[in-house]
Amino acid sequence: MLKELQGKRVLITGSTTGIGLATARLFLQYGACVGINGRRGIDDPQVVEEFGRLPGEFSTFSADLTRSENCRQLVEAFVGRFGGIDVLINNAGGLGGRSPLEKIDDAFYDHVMDLNVRSVLMMTKFAIPYLREAARQTGITTAVLSTGSIAGRDGGGIGAGVYGSAKAWVHDIHRNWVKEFSKDNIRFNIVSPGSIDTAFHHGKSEEVLQKMRDSIPMGRFGASEEVAPTYLFLATHAFSGYITGQIVDVNGGQMAP
Ligand code: NAD
Repeated sequence: MLKELQGKRVLITGSTTGIGLATARLFLQYGACVGINGRRGIDDPQVVEEFGRLPGEFSTFSADLTRSENCRQLVEAFVGRFGGIDVLINNAGGLGGRSPLEKIDDAFYDHVMDLNVRSVLMMTKFAIPYLREAARQTGITTAVLSTGSIAGRDGGGIGAGVYGSAKAWVHDIHRNWVKEFSKDNIRFNIVSPGSIDTAFHHGKSEEVLQKMRDSIPMGRFGASEEVAPTYLFLATHAFSGYITGQIVDVNGGQMAP
């Protein structure tokens, strides 16, 4: 079944660090053609060297996806390199800061929404024609996977309400796209992490981190490598060809409402 991944063209936004980077590595291990994206390239030259030795092929495309035009250019650049798209993983995103409601201004709102909502909307819009065509040519489903969050189910922590509701928007619009594009053989699923040990949590005090661990039944943060296989499962027709419109929680047992 994993043979299906050889040569699969997988564009992963926000894959220069954290969950996206671990996911890129896993797809490369199984021979996929991977587009790596972040605001800049992969910082660690050892990782670049390691990726070069894996069975798959990769190219790096730096782009700030808060701008619609940059999303369009990223899709076109990836297709120019690999000839089409079989899987789009919308993973770029982030908290974008915390603010109590009464201090939120337009700049804060625009930043959080552009990062977590506009990027997913525009990347998917520009990728759809290629995903449709790849599904037609191969006769198997193609896939859009987006990174949601437990915050999209529970509203997010105090000061992170715009982020939490932006992720809820991502969860919800996938269900709309299922209705519009299932006829084209494109599947849409969400990977929804709980607390994963990445730069996302940098800057928190040890006391806050311990409180978070205490709220997780498994008693620890997850590793990016423990999230990556869920994308692989949902991207592979042979594993998940009849799964669409779902949210898969990867959270060590935190109860997602
Ligand atoms: P991370 O900070 O390590 O990764 C974020 C990635 O997004 C990086 O590659 C970064 O370059 C990229 N990025 C940020 N802004 C961008 C922009 N404007 N344009 C293009 N790329 C941009 O953090 P992570 O934890 O790996 O986050 C990945 C995803 O997981 C995010 O969508 C985040 O909201 C989500 N998430 C993380 C957690 C967690 O606990 N770590 C929990 C739930 C959801």
